[in-house]
Amino acid sequence: MKNVLITGASRGIGAECALTFADNGYRVFINYNRSEEKALALCEKIRGKGGECFAVQADVTDRDAVRRMISLCRYHGGGLDVLVNNAGIDFYGTIEQTEPEIWDKIINTDLTGVYNATRAALPELKNSSSGRIINVSSVWGVYGASCEAAYSAAKAGVIGLTKALAKELGLSGVTVNCVAPGFIDTDMNAIFDENAVSDIIDRTPLNRAGTCKDVAEAVLWLASEKASFITGQVLGADGGFM
Ligand code: NAP
Repeated sequence: MKNVLITGASRGIGAECALTFADNGYRVFINYNRSEEKALALCEKIRGKGGECFAVQADVTDRDAVRRMISLCRYHGGGLDVLVNNAGIDFYGTIEQTEPEIWDKIINTDLTGVYNATRAALPELKNSSSGRIINVSSVWGVYGASCEAAYSAAKAGVIGLTKALAKELGLSGVTVNCVAPGFIDTDMNAIFDENAVSDIIDRTPLNRAGTCKDVAEAVLWLASEKASFITGQVLGADGGFM
């Protein structure tokens, strides 16, 4: 049985990834930060369907906690085959409103968090016969979004990190790819009003918001044997937005 660790899997896209991987026979490690109840309920749901899963608390910005989380994967799963770096936060406001503490928090979570988990998980992933890293970036990391400068910068950084690591880790057999979701209906977008939502849907060729399942299926495919010759790519899960 293969092991997958999904960061930020208590809600939204990460939670759907957890369900999708479990349905496809993976042992799932569900990382959460604050939403313990939701993570435990998700675990129960997966176990109820006969799947194997563990909920693991760790703030991805806390390197010691991240190292402990990887030890737990080793202890309960004997290793790690797939790391999905999904945990993320957003901030909506002008650059003037982006106080240094906000900037640091977004970069630390959305970019440095990916570095922290990747670095801690690498020995396990290199030991796997099919190590995979799948990073969740965003279309804003490609295009840049007005009033989301820190988020766009962090997500662009994730794409650079993905491309660099794909080259560096090729010989060790670990593939590194990104998904870049478009507008997905989750808590993260709850701040946008109806007009803002319909504007972005109008700019999406498939003319709808994405679902968490749309993204989870793309992540699952990148983790599969079918994608074994694919590395360093940015796969848009965005209804054609990019
Ligand atoms: P969401 O519903 O707000 O969920 C965010 C998840 O990240 C939660 O599980 C949260 O855990 C976790 N998280 C936040 N800070 C964390 C930290 N420091 N350590 C560990 N976990 C942390 O967001 P979402 O929409 O599913 O987004 C998931 C990913 O997709 C993010 O990277 C986001 O940038 C990206 N994305 C989303 C969209 C979209 O339209 N929704 C589009 C493009 C990209 P707790 O609740 O347990 O704290």
